[in-house]
Amino acid sequence: MPSKNKDQMILSASYLVPVSSPPLKNGAVLVEDGRIKDTGTSDIIKKKYPEIPVRNFPESILMPGLVNCHTHLEYSALGPLTKHVDFVPWIKGLIQKQKALSKAEILLSIRKTVKSLISAGVTSVGEVSRSGLSLDELIKSGIKGVYFNEFVAVDDNRLKKAICDHEANFRQCKLKLKRPDLKPGVFPHSPYTLSTKSLKYISSYYKKNKISCGMHAAESPFENEFIFKGSGPLADFVKTFQLESIPISGKWRGTTEYLNGLKFTDPLNHLVHCVHLNRKDFALLAKTKTGIVLCPRSNYLLKNGEFPLRSALKYDLKMGIGTDSLASNYSLDMFEEIRMLKNIYGSSLINERLVRIATLGGAEVLGSEKETGSLLPGKKADLIVVKINTRPVKNLSPVDHIVSKAVANDVCFTMIDGLIRFDK
Ligand SMILES: [Zn+2]
Repeated sequence: MPSKNKDQMILSASYLVPVSSPPLKNGAVLVEDGRIKDTGTSDIIKKKYPEIPVRNFPESILMPGLVNCHTHLEYSALGPLTKHVDFVPWIKGLIQKQKALSKAEILLSIRKTVKSLISAGVTSVGEVSRSGLSLDELIKSGIKGVYFNEFVAVDDNRLKKAICDHEANFRQCKLKLKRPDLKPGVFPHSPYTLSTKSLKYISSYYKKNKISCGMHAAESPFENEFIFKGSGPLADFVKTFQLESIPISGKWRGTTEYLNGLKFTDPLNHLVHCVHLNRKDFALLAKTKTGIVLCPRSNYLLKNGEFPLRSALKYDLKMGIGTDSLASNYSLDMFEEIRMLKNIYGSSLINERLVRIATLGGAEVLGSEKETGSLLPGKKADLIVVKINTRPVKNLSPVDHIVSKAVANDVCFTMIDGLIRFDK
């Protein structure tokens, strides 16, 4: 059970990493009624508010909660994935294996995984669900973000029924979601599992209703071939759905151009993976303010290639990080994802940017940056404390520590909306 919401509390640590401003040595945050009221050095904050109780965290970093922009909690029982597998057989197997699980098994694994997300410092998620089974557990946990209802295997003939079913799910979801900080969204699975007409309809329908949409895009090396020519391993995979009109209509040179043609590129929307994109694609996504979500470890395990980080960073892109599900990852540790991106980049020059991407950047992708993602007075008190368990190396800044050394197990305190949700 979460602790009682304390009206006022000062949290202080050896380092404060607010993300929206430079790190501070011996920093503190004043939390009042679930929001950040003030930040500064511990000395100044304690002097300014002498009557307020202080919780001190020695040898620790106080920072915003992590934003995991892409999860599928309902696949938790299928993991963890600990070895490389080929993408197309993997996705085929995923559907079969999920069908073999009982509802009780799925629910149990969701409960366990939500708990582990909070103890790993995650305060917001972009959760994608086909079954809706993860909704209750997320509501209970206090985690915020967007709950994306997934559309998959929709051809022209099935579109009407899919929208009807979806609207029924969506209404249910809205009834349960009484908090404005966990909003419903929509997730058409991918450019190869929905027909052109379906994607176009879904894009415009939800845009009109200002509902945010996400989609897996440019994940595997086979997607462009499917979009160019309608052939390749993904075309074979699609046949297993027995759909009539998935082969896309129109002439497109790749995923981004295709989705832009269907008006899916939009400030409310985001694309997940984006491994096989080039500079022209990134320029288009920056221009349309479409978010992108990077899942580097899932890409690695499914042999999908490496996200072109150096190229992407040249554009003003809204960028967040996701772990994807345990079916394609060996853990949901966001610090490991950050570290993988640093290794892809090949230098620690990027560390500050990576910590921003894992927090405020993710909040921008999910449309919640005004309320969360950094420790700025006025924002919600969504924050974590990371223990420095290794002897600090001389000149290693707190940001370098987060990127190079921290792991999920180092998180010792998670607060969401001023409520303590984890305290080790
Ligand atoms: Zn996914």
